[in-house]
Amino acid sequence: MKIVLLGPPGAGKGTQAKSICNRLSIPHISTGDIFRKHISENTSLGIEAKKSIDKGQLVSDELTIRIVLERLKNEDCKSGFLLDGFPRTVVQANALDSFLETEGQKLDTTLLIDVPKDFIIERMSGRRVCLTCGASYHIKFNPPIFEGKCDICGSDIIQRKDDEEKTVRERLDIYNQQTEPLIKYYRDKGILAVIDGTQAINDVFKNICKVLGRDN
Ligand code: ADP
Ligand code: ADP
Ligand code: ZN
Repeated sequence: MKIVLLGPPGAGKGTQAKSICNRLSIPHISTGDIFRKHISENTSLGIEAKKSIDKGQLVSDELTIRIVLERLKNEDCKSGFLLDGFPRTVVQANALDSFLETEGQKLDTTLLIDVPKDFIIERMSGRRVCLTCGASYHIKFNPPIFEGKCDICGSDIIQRKDDEEKTVRERLDIYNQQTEPLIKYYRDKGILAVIDGTQAINDVFKNICKVLGRDN
């Protein structure tokens, strides 16, 4: 299946993406994880992306589209993939559609994880992430088994610099202006499914599986 995950920062996209990709055996493509990896390795792409990310702003469409299309050309994406955090603008959505069209493919579904703004600040302030494998935790709602360590790979988990409240508010504004129009974009194409993201992590996953027809 070819899936796009949509939703505001902190909606639970990364958390659900891990479970969905395990269940469906498809690659998880997170633009945020890709950028953070480049930043931790100090590549020129990372240095460029960091300027925008630290301010809570979007990385340029040009750079973002380039890294995603390169990734989608990999053999492991031929039978399916899950995009998490891309597209975030209408320009990116159009670029994705054109690319898939030339490959004779199309998206199966866009899952919008719907969470009101009131939930977001609490989720973001307690978020901890693993830079090695991309796993996301929450000190209250989803703590790791051993404090400060990733359950999956054992690396240290950290607080993201762009998760401080001021930057989160900027990211929410940008989501409203630039990303929310994609809800209509995908609804008009008839491939939007809305998932209530305010429920517990497991319940959100169960609902996603139902929508995907994989609730066995
Ligand atoms: P979150 O899951 O908290 O919304 P991400 O990890 O997806 O955050 O992204 C972190 C940051 O990386 C974004 O705030 C933005 O600066 C940059 N970024 C990620 N995906 C994109 C994209 N598709 N277009 C532009 N910038 C992006
Ligand atoms: P996104 O990728 O959309 O920015 P994450 O998956 O990183 O979001 O989740 C943001 C934070 O909220 C993390 O700390 C995560 O553990 C927590 N979280 C995710 N889903 C839920 C949920 N359904 N209920 C409570 N907390 C959640
Ligand atoms: Zn890890």
